[in-house]
Amino acid sequence: MDYDVIIVGAGSMGMAAGYFLAKEGKNVLMLDAFTPPHEEGSHHGDTRIIRFAYGEGASYVPFVKRAGELWQELESLANESLFLQTGVVNIGEPTCAFIQNVEASAALYDLALEHYSPDEAMNKWPGLFLPKNLVACFEPTAGVLRVEACIQAYKKLALEAGASLRTNEKVLAIQAGDIVQVQTVHNSYKAKQLIVTAGAWATELLQTVDVSIPVTPTRKTFAWFEADEQLYRDEVFPAYCFEFADSTYYGFPSIDGAGLKLGRHDGGDVVNPNDPLRPFDASDAVDLQNFVDQFMPQHGTLKYGKTCKYSMTPDEDFIIDFLPEHQNIVIAAGFSGHGFKFSSAIGEALADLIVEGKSKQDLSTFKLSRF
Ligand SMILES: Cc1cc2nc3c(=O)[nH]c(=O)nc-3n(C[C@H](O)[C@H](O)[C@H](O)COP(=O)(O)OP(=O)(O)OC[C@H]3O[C@@H](n4cnc5c(N)ncnc54)[C@H](O)[C@@H]3O)c2cc1C
Repeated sequence: MDYDVIIVGAGSMGMAAGYFLAKEGKNVLMLDAFTPPHEEGSHHGDTRIIRFAYGEGASYVPFVKRAGELWQELESLANESLFLQTGVVNIGEPTCAFIQNVEASAALYDLALEHYSPDEAMNKWPGLFLPKNLVACFEPTAGVLRVEACIQAYKKLALEAGASLRTNEKVLAIQAGDIVQVQTVHNSYKAKQLIVTAGAWATELLQTVDVSIPVTPTRKTFAWFEADEQLYRDEVFPAYCFEFADSTYYGFPSIDGAGLKLGRHDGGDVVNPNDPLRPFDASDAVDLQNFVDQFMPQHGTLKYGKTCKYSMTPDEDFIIDFLPEHQNIVIAAGFSGHGFKFSSAIGEALADLIVEGKSKQDLSTFKLSRF
């Protein structure tokens, strides 16, 4: 036997899983089509928000709290700052589901949450403009993860713990069975168990074992604007989520002088993950520009924009499960634009599924059978 466990996709989820499994003494091979961290998938662009009072539903809170503990642990193991406690302000109409979920999460799990009227919020953050119909719920203990540095840190620890990593080696096909075999562009490898954490490529890869998952790769854009550092630097301005009836935006204060960062969460073109993404262009800029003009009116000009891939499920909840017909194959996919903050805890949960057959986390929301 070549390996105990093969992990296909050593990105956000796969690299963390590789670390936790190697730490358990498993002989692990991580395979990636590129050299993570890289700019081809879902994990580039410097920053990711981590918030605990969870707008997508209170059921996520225990999982994200565990993730927060593991990020702290990673910081100390890597001896590196990976989390910035900027706070996160959630903004929307008080009746919208996202704000209601933020409130319910905080109440249920006793999380710190401060409430501001538009005037109070504009007083606290003079760089912000809010119309009268919105409310601001500020979570002071939330903040920002340095995304590539987190993956780099898990990579280093996984390799130190004995995992193997082969980069620029795309997996072309999986052959299921008591022994799983994967065929790459260069080689074939065998293992007792397999994890598929292939991000935007998960759907096409699982087709090679006749499994269909409703995960749609989607093109997303984000951009940085020149910022008045007095108003928008991370010491004085938080990360933010704006929820409207027809759109959702999120973004970051200016960190290390990078500028005010902004992205739109909803929408985006469905893409083939193997095709190069259409680069950020003027039409992408217009929408983001309109948003900052209205809500952060003292920003400067657009610096530059980038593109990235989301992997969307129909209900925007994740998929973390064994394959129904193959109990030695686990998939973690469909992170629908909000998965990174969980990746430390997902790495741990995937290792538990492989080693113990179950996780301490409640993964029932993430079952494949719900579709
Ligand atoms: C613009 C943007 C902003 C975001 N903001 C946030 C945020 O603020 N907070 C948050 O929590 N989340 C956020 N997310 C979501 C989060 O980044 C993703 O949910 C997460 O990175 C997904 O992790 P993954 O492991 O599934 O994918 P990835 O990190 O992309 O990893 C998949 C890996 O699999 C490899 N791979 C694929 N196919 C193969 C193959 N056949 N063979 C070998 N290797 C393969 C890829 O090369 C890649 O390295 C954002 C995402 C984007 C794009």
